[in-house]
Amino acid sequence: MAEDTIEKPNKINSAMEGGPLLSVVVPVFNEQDVIEPLHSRLLQILDPAGIDFEIIFVDDGSRDRSAQMLDAICRSDPRFNVLHFSRNFGHQPAVTAGLRAVNGQCAVVIDADLQDPPELILDMLKLWREGYAVVYAQKTEREGSGFLIRHAYRIFYRVVGSLSEVEIPRDSGDFSLMDRRVVDLLNAMPERNRYVRGLRAWLGFRQTAIKFERPARFAGHTKYNFGRLIGLAFDGVLSVSTAPLRIAMYMGFLSSIGSFLLGIIFAIQQITGKSHTARGWASTIVVILFLGGVQLICIGFIGEFIGRIYDEVKQRPMYVVARSTGL
Ligand code: UDP
Ligand code: MG
Repeated sequence: MAEDTIEKPNKINSAMEGGPLLSVVVPVFNEQDVIEPLHSRLLQILDPAGIDFEIIFVDDGSRDRSAQMLDAICRSDPRFNVLHFSRNFGHQPAVTAGLRAVNGQCAVVIDADLQDPPELILDMLKLWREGYAVVYAQKTEREGSGFLIRHAYRIFYRVVGSLSEVEIPRDSGDFSLMDRRVVDLLNAMPERNRYVRGLRAWLGFRQTAIKFERPARFAGHTKYNFGRLIGLAFDGVLSVSTAPLRIAMYMGFLSSIGSFLLGIIFAIQQITGKSHTARGWASTIVVILFLGGVQLICIGFIGEFIGRIYDEVKQRPMYVVARSTGL
């Protein structure tokens, strides 16, 4: 097999033998209308396939009947489990909490609203068995969301993608299957502003995509309004890159160079007698522009240092060893 193929998961860590094959993490926030359909769809798909699974619902501080409904499901079927947050902490913290609780040899993260078709789990498992450590779903169409949101997402993925130091696959969300090893590494990352799909891409290993058309929400409405989306965009950009800190420096260089060019132009106008400006105006503008530029460059330098501090406090491992021979 290819060199980067991961070892068969059940040989990696004997401590987890006895755990189920598959763990499914489902973040839930006010989803009372989709819980029952989701529950039956999951059973319809996983039971006939004979998959040994556990489900981990994370109730992210729901204020509707979701919590009671999840409790009822979990009481009637020991394969279903639920963590209740004390309040709404957000989608990414919910996914993180769920991943920290998994016992399976691989884990799937899936939305509660059936926008991530549970059928794909079987295809993901197949690819995982072929040796892929991460199988993520990639949307080809974003049905059921408005023009604005659709384009906001497009721009979002492009911007994050172009700023990021690792390649984050476009149009892929958190819906994915991860090998237990990847989950453990993800869980070991101490950073708090988590952008799970970015961290997942950062970790590497053999990754592959499954394309799918994203259907509309089964019921209820999206919990990501424009403001939250902007928040996610910030986490996305800032967790994978310190490039924005450099903006000040670039502007500073532009401004300084501009002031020099202006200075030259003003001087030529003065010499050739074509200057129409009031006395002293040209030199004032040039000095202001130049000093502004110098200040921006200095802010940029401070930004660079902050970027490095940020990198250090994130305490991400410098590298991840996939496997070794003879050590
Ligand atoms: N979600 C959550 N906490 C939140 C917001 C959302 O756990 O604060 C869950 C939500 O219940 C759903 C998933 O995250 O299972 C994705 O949310 P949503 O469907 O609203 O996002 P969209 O599909 O519109 O991007
Ligand atoms: Mg949704």
